[in-house]
Amino acid sequence: MSNDFDNTKPYILQVIEHQTGLKFKKIGNQYNLNPCPFCKHNDCFFVKSDNNDHFFKCQSCGEGGTVHDYIAKTTSLNLSEGLKLISDITGCQLQNTPNSTPKHKSNNIHEVIAKYYHQVFLQDAEKQKYQLQVRGHATETIKKQIIGVTDGRLHIHLKKEGYTEPESLQSGFISKENGILKDQYYPGVTVYPQIDINGNVGHFRFRNERKNKKFQLSNDYKNPEINFYNMPAFKQDHIYVVEGEHDAMSLM
Ligand SMILES: [Zn+2]
Repeated sequence: MSNDFDNTKPYILQVIEHQTGLKFKKIGNQYNLNPCPFCKHNDCFFVKSDNNDHFFKCQSCGEGGTVHDYIAKTTSLNLSEGLKLISDITGCQLQNTPNSTPKHKSNNIHEVIAKYYHQVFLQDAEKQKYQLQVRGHATETIKKQIIGVTDGRLHIHLKKEGYTEPESLQSGFISKENGILKDQYYPGVTVYPQIDINGNVGHFRFRNERKNKKFQLSNDYKNPEINFYNMPAFKQDHIYVVEGEHDAMSLM
């Protein structure tokens, strides 16, 4: 949680200042507030940091703890109300706020998958060299066609993006073996997302230049409106029909 505040004033300071109407003074690597909100003595109340965790401690009365402890000790708010108060004071949405809205996730999981594999592609020098130098495609075309590479870690990414197990399994990209989710496609396979007439990802083609192993995503998972690679071409006045993805990309 505290990583969110790395570059800002530790929010425990904001909260205690707000609640007491007093100002902290920075002394070395700690902050002093006078008087102590608990015992009212001077020069004894400090906020210290341990990495990114911040604590208050009074050397006179011994009170101490986190920002949550501070709220609990000085107000009658329950945990949820306390978190709300902290978030109101600091303007930060705390990650463990109860009833916080779940992370927004795209309805089109295939779009998320295409973007993920494209990020993997952008870190794979060998695959980029193949597309740019061997196939001679333009960087812009590769970006527009969201060319990707599998890495065997898609199931982890989908979970992080908030997709449930059934949603991941229904994508056609994830399978379950002995109760454990795993990627359907082993690492290093080039992915050619197929885009519908509105520019949305609706299907995929896979090519493995090295191993020449043939496998494709079942048509069960296909957007039925996709009959050709690069469907947005149907919005143009003239359409060129070519054999494969690389021929199509060469014309873009
Ligand atoms: Zn004290």
